[in-house]
Amino acid sequence: MDPLLRYARHKQPDIIAMTREFVECESPSDDPVSVNRFVELVAASLDGVAYIRTHPGDEPGKRGKFGKHLRCEVTLPGGKTQGQVLALGHSDTVWPLGTLRTMPFRNARGRLWGPGVLDMKAGLVFFIFATRALRELDIPVRRRVVLQVNSDEEVGSSSSRPLTEAARRKSVAVLVLEPGTGLEGKLKTARKGVGDYTITVRGRAAHAGIDFANGASAILEMSRQIEKIATITRLDRGITVSPGVIRGGTRSNVVAAECTAEIDVRIPRDSDRKYLERKFGSLRPFDKRCTIEVAGGVNRPPLERSAGVRKLFGTARKLAAELGITLEESSTGGGSDGNFTAAQGIATLDGLGAVGEGAHALNESILVNRIADRTALLAKLIAAL
Ligand SMILES: [Zn+2]
Repeated sequence: MDPLLRYARHKQPDIIAMTREFVECESPSDDPVSVNRFVELVAASLDGVAYIRTHPGDEPGKRGKFGKHLRCEVTLPGGKTQGQVLALGHSDTVWPLGTLRTMPFRNARGRLWGPGVLDMKAGLVFFIFATRALRELDIPVRRRVVLQVNSDEEVGSSSSRPLTEAARRKSVAVLVLEPGTGLEGKLKTARKGVGDYTITVRGRAAHAGIDFANGASAILEMSRQIEKIATITRLDRGITVSPGVIRGGTRSNVVAAECTAEIDVRIPRDSDRKYLERKFGSLRPFDKRCTIEVAGGVNRPPLERSAGVRKLFGTARKLAAELGITLEESSTGGGSDGNFTAAQGIATLDGLGAVGEGAHALNESILVNRIADRTALLAKLIAAL
């Protein structure tokens, strides 16, 4: 048996114990104190075997809005040549504090359950044990190996993005510890770019009974715009435009003066960005008494299946075969921080974390019988790159 797989199988009880510890330390994106507690836990697990730094989770005008971002340069055997391998993860989850009361950590029916177990606390644990395996089995690596854990991934990564982009520049490859796709744990070799537009329509308020004709309804105008915006979707090209939120008006007897809509957009290719900009930029009011303001755009570029991504997947596939696993690839409409590293042509392989289902859902869980091979695959990849 592959020595790394044997190691991971032998350590599986420890991997499960650490996963439990991580899940039981809740870390919602909007609670920096809790996220920092979790970040300390992750850092402690690498204490003595990594050079550890934290960066404040600031945003323009808001210091410490998020928990700290963590950067760990792991000490591993081998003479390092140039460049680094960047493992990318996040510490935050979508689950509010107290979720554990109704969704406690459980090890049952062949799975580990709990808030954040799949997205992506188990992925962080796998990385930690992958590097332990390389150290304890004295398997040399060729590059500097850095783990970066962002604290704001679930809310758009506005604070961590500059850090991710700076790390990308030094990296020859990026391994993203997000969960794989489906119960087969397919890797993600393409992710759509993500963004949102905010449309604000301003009309003219009036009494709906006494002065109706003088009013220009922002709601009516928006409803016409929404029909138009829906036609921007091009399913044949994988471009989707989805009005997700609409707000307008004050009372039923007042012609609405203002209405806003938030529109989710997804694009498979970076060049599709121009198409969206043109379409959203050409929106004009049907009722000339109304005005339209368009803000926003694509904020996560797509992770495209580039030559570098294909090559990296080929390497992973070969290494997985040595573990007896047939590795497949998939594409997804959801974004990750891997989108930022792939954007400048750095080979990025996503979905290397746990295998399971139910991210952001009540059935969030990972498969116990895929813990060892995923951990071993990560270790083999780190050593091979
Ligand atoms: Zn995630």
